[in-house]
Amino acid sequence: MQDEETDVIIVGGGFSGLVAANRMAQLGLKPLVLEKGTDEFYFCNGRLTGGAMHACYRDVNTAPVELEKAIGMTNPLAVGSPLSSAVANNAKRVVDFLMSEGMRFIKAGPQEYQNRVLAPPRPNYPGLHWQGRGGDVMIRTLEANLVKRGGTLRRGARAHDIRHTATGFELTVENVDPLKAGHPASTEQLACRSVIIADGGFQSDPGFLRQFITDHPEKILQRGGGTSMGDGVRLAQSLGADLVDMGNFYGHPLCLDAFENPKLWPYPFLDGLVTSGIVVAADAQRFFNEGDGGVYAANMIARHEDPLSAIVIFDKNIWEGPGRHGAIPPNPHVPAVGGHVEQANSIAELAPRVGLDPSVLSRVVEQYNAALQAGELASLSPARTCVKYPAMPIVQAPFYAIRLCAGITYTMGGIAIDARGRVLKTDGAEVSGLYAIGTAAGGIEGGPKTGYVGGLIISGVTALLAAEDVASRIRDHAVVTV
Ligand SMILES: Cc1cc2nc3c(=O)[nH]c(=O)nc-3n(C[C@H](O)[C@H](O)[C@H](O)COP(=O)(O)OP(=O)(O)OC[C@H]3O[C@@H](n4cnc5c(N)ncnc54)[C@H](O)[C@@H]3O)c2cc1C
Repeated sequence: MQDEETDVIIVGGGFSGLVAANRMAQLGLKPLVLEKGTDEFYFCNGRLTGGAMHACYRDVNTAPVELEKAIGMTNPLAVGSPLSSAVANNAKRVVDFLMSEGMRFIKAGPQEYQNRVLAPPRPNYPGLHWQGRGGDVMIRTLEANLVKRGGTLRRGARAHDIRHTATGFELTVENVDPLKAGHPASTEQLACRSVIIADGGFQSDPGFLRQFITDHPEKILQRGGGTSMGDGVRLAQSLGADLVDMGNFYGHPLCLDAFENPKLWPYPFLDGLVTSGIVVAADAQRFFNEGDGGVYAANMIARHEDPLSAIVIFDKNIWEGPGRHGAIPPNPHVPAVGGHVEQANSIAELAPRVGLDPSVLSRVVEQYNAALQAGELASLSPARTCVKYPAMPIVQAPFYAIRLCAGITYTMGGIAIDARGRVLKTDGAEVSGLYAIGTAAGGIEGGPKTGYVGGLIISGVTALLAAEDVASRIRDHAVVTV
């Protein structure tokens, strides 16, 4: 046990952990951030982020009442929740806070969600390019600011156990040996009054993925830092925390070759092809509504009994139209970096090139085209909607097929919290002194259609609000009750 009790320990030195730590340091606390990564530039989603600061693809300056409506339309389970109001009311504050910490934003494209993107933005070519880009600069800057304010970021420290004490908590921490990844060099106990869980979720833990998302975690591709193993969920659960909406994740359909070819993740993603054409499995049948968007598609592919069997089918007009939209579109980038794109002059010729039955695929495409032309896409099984993403006919040769996989960036569900980041038990009571922020927490995104609000904005808001709550409680000497 250390001699002196720390005010607050933050588990995770990614985006939300460092925002919370800096806010608390501004408010007079001396936070200790435990980060399990050992490298100077340890991976976390905050460092790899694309950096678009938006809420439901809306500008953060949008009136909070509009943002709250947008969140409700994105995830009906969030309608009327205090957490949803908190995100809507504080979205702009996150950008203001980051600017005051030294971050710069630029308008990176014509879409509203690109109005405020961390600078410098990522380059417009395929693969993972993070060094010196907005997310990397942000994590480095936030660490430097924290140290200047008297806080501490400790690398190679993995929190893996927690218990209540009379005055707060005792955390068991593994000191990670950088030379023997996965093997702790030693363990120690740290005492503190409050703990903030900011470990980023459970997207990289095969056990949790199998329990909540897919029978085949090995068949979905990590589309982020790969550092979030659900430790925060385990810590919170051991103190009685509730978990919310654990079955959804933020991610995108990627080219299957991304498993072997690092130039094919995290970009380009194939959302535009998926939402304009059709996706079939090994039986050549569609298995979800492509009109619900790329994030939903990634979830449906992951949940399929064989997540590696999904294939997107489209034609020349889609390849030359939506296939070229976006900053790093699949056309020309997928074939340019070695991804397989099959093409043929008829659907019957195309089918065997991707292992599909020609007559079944031809029939499925004909039915789809006929339903689209008749305005009866809802009669398909599964029904296809066009409210968010227009369906396009598959009629113009050449016809194309790309094998897909589901790329997982972060889990949307997580630890139940209130609007100040306080962890909640199943009966709605709080676990006094325990907080969860960022993508470790749940309750905003997800729902029946895997609604995506924005990882950065949720992380920033929950971090600021939890930090302020911890500071006010510690300043007021609030007694922790077990
Ligand atoms: C390629 C990519 C593009 C993205 N683009 C966007 C975008 O444009 N807009 C947007 O809104 N969002 C985007 N996101 C998502 C966004 O980056 C995340 O939502 C955000 O960074 C989450 O912050 P966090 O603090 O919850 O998690 P992270 O930043 O991942 O931090 C979690 C940290 O906790 C550490 N940790 C884990 N377990 C422990 C433990 N037991 N003990 C100690 N430390 C631990 C990890 O090592 C990690 O450093 C993107 C993500 C990726 C990967």
